[in-house]
Amino acid sequence: MSKIHENLDLLEERIQAACDRSGRDRGDVLLIGVTKTRTAEEINEAVDWGITDIGENKVQEIMDKYEHVHGDVNWHMIGHLQTNKVKYIIDKVSLIHSVDKIKLAEEIDKRAREHGIIASVLIEVNAAGEESKFGTDLEGAKSLIEEVRAKCKNICIKGLMTIAPFTDDPEEVRPYFRELKALFDSYQGIKDETMDMQHLSMGMSGDFEVAIEEGATMIRVGTAIFGARNYNI
Ligand SMILES: *Cc1c(COP(=O)(O)O)cnc(C)c1O
Repeated sequence: MSKIHENLDLLEERIQAACDRSGRDRGDVLLIGVTKTRTAEEINEAVDWGITDIGENKVQEIMDKYEHVHGDVNWHMIGHLQTNKVKYIIDKVSLIHSVDKIKLAEEIDKRAREHGIIASVLIEVNAAGEESKFGTDLEGAKSLIEEVRAKCKNICIKGLMTIAPFTDDPEEVRPYFRELKALFDSYQGIKDETMDMQHLSMGMSGDFEVAIEEGATMIRVGTAIFGARNYNI
């Protein structure tokens, strides 16, 4: 069996165990395979295993691989998105996880209108307030959500996303996941064309089990599937 399939089998067992521990249905947690720096061939191996959703953090990588990945996969833009690059991916990605500024939302809105589509987005929250990370803080998220709903008619806000601080002990990030879940819950019951909060995108290779326990509906996992990344190649 290929290493990627072996890793996916092991990952799947851990996802299932985390669901069992927290009384959640496996079907309520979407595994997004994060494929940055990986080739289309490697991605196709993961697709052959059953991966349906792919996460990339660079526009260029989506452009390069888009035509070469087989099957009917959904592409997710999970990284920082520059406004001048929105036009390249607006018709390619099913979900943009990284909206953190009104200027970016307005550009997505404009490009979506040109294509006659409603763009699905998540609001990226920097729950731990780390200087090095993109994303708005919790209070900023609330006002950004209201501003996007008021101004961007070709956007539907589908949920929230966070990247937790890097740590060797995933228990340390549990409070951030919990905070984001509370914010997410506060929007349940409000649903219209501008907002339908269904997705809580949190958890990576080092902390996806804690994220599932705290209510993640999407986990973004790269290293645990494909191995350590080498950025020099
Ligand atoms: C790279 C990346 C991931 C996956 O990280 P791993 O630790 O390799 O699982 C998840 N989310 C974002 C936004 C990323 O850039």
